Amino acid sequence: MDFSYIPIIFGILVFLLPVAIVYNNLNSEETYTLVHKSIHKKPILIDIPELKKVNEAQIKAAILSAKKKLIRDLATKLAQYTSAENLNNVYRNISSLTIKRSPLPDGIIGRYYPKTNTIRYSSKSSIPHEFIHCSTTYCDSNTKQSFTGFSQDNAEGECFANGLNEGYTEIVASRVFNIPITSYKREVEIANLFELFFDDRKEMEALFFNHDLPGLVKRMEKFAPVEEILELIAQTDELMKMSSGEKNYLPILIDEQAAQIKLKLYTIFKKNFNDSNKLAEFEKQLLNSEITRGIITKESLASYKNQVFSPNNSTVNQVSL
Ligand SMILES: [Zn+2]
Repeated sequence: MDFSYIPIIFGILVFLLPVAIVYNNLNSEETYTLVHKSIHKKPILIDIPELKKVNEAQIKAAILSAKKKLIRDLATKLAQYTSAENLNNVYRNISSLTIKRSPLPDGIIGRYYPKTNTIRYSSKSSIPHEFIHCSTTYCDSNTKQSFTGFSQDNAEGECFANGLNEGYTEIVASRVFNIPITSYKREVEIANLFELFFDDRKEMEALFFNHDLPGLVKRMEKFAPVEEILELIAQTDELMKMSSGEKNYLPILIDEQAAQIKLKLYTIFKKNFNDSNKLAEFEKQLLNSEITRGIITKESLASYKNQVFSPNNSTVNQVSL
């Protein structure tokens, strides 16, 4: 018997096995555990633990147990805005939440620290946004993973979907507390476009309050392959990194990145939604933008009519530090 082929066969199997595992993960309906290598080569686990349901009376009692009147007032407004199913994180986080004025690095006026459940601020105006972070955060003490709205941190401190999450946090804070949008304006505009993929914005809000990024991805998967959706989310993370250190980039380059993401979303939207009112609303948001006006014009939208989005055919990744 000739054994000389064994090393070759073994080599082929070793090469094919990881491919098969990734393929299986991408196509698995039941277990949504997905290790995604984003364009930044960071492995991200996408999976959320299921939490016990809580009722209105339990939430009310939790709100009353909060340390400060300011926290009780913010939570009361949030409880008036949304239903008990969306307040599980409020129920678990609010009694131990600490808010304190403290110096922060330059340009940062507020920050929420999930692991210590603390809001630090140098300007009071940041508190509503940070409070929404607290209200959407779940920390898993076993895996050391934390979930805040749509964003996920793993034990190594790597983060995914932070850009989309900051934009949507700003939107929700503005709705709940009736305050203007003041930060993350580029991310806000992108998060608004994501919301148009839902029949009712309350559906996206419910996923956000329950730190359910997989739910958001599953919804978006109805319209485009999962890899495209994750790529768009990763590119929004990149956008946020670019925006937060504006000195290293010309603002036009950052706006260009925002425009590319929006146009990809538009391509996907246009392919899937025949409702002319919804399409008109999407186009209105693209054309009325403070940020990408001049980059996205009526003419550029018309040229997107028959274009098929391809992540490999994008100019977005060409911008570098
Ligand atoms: Zn934030």
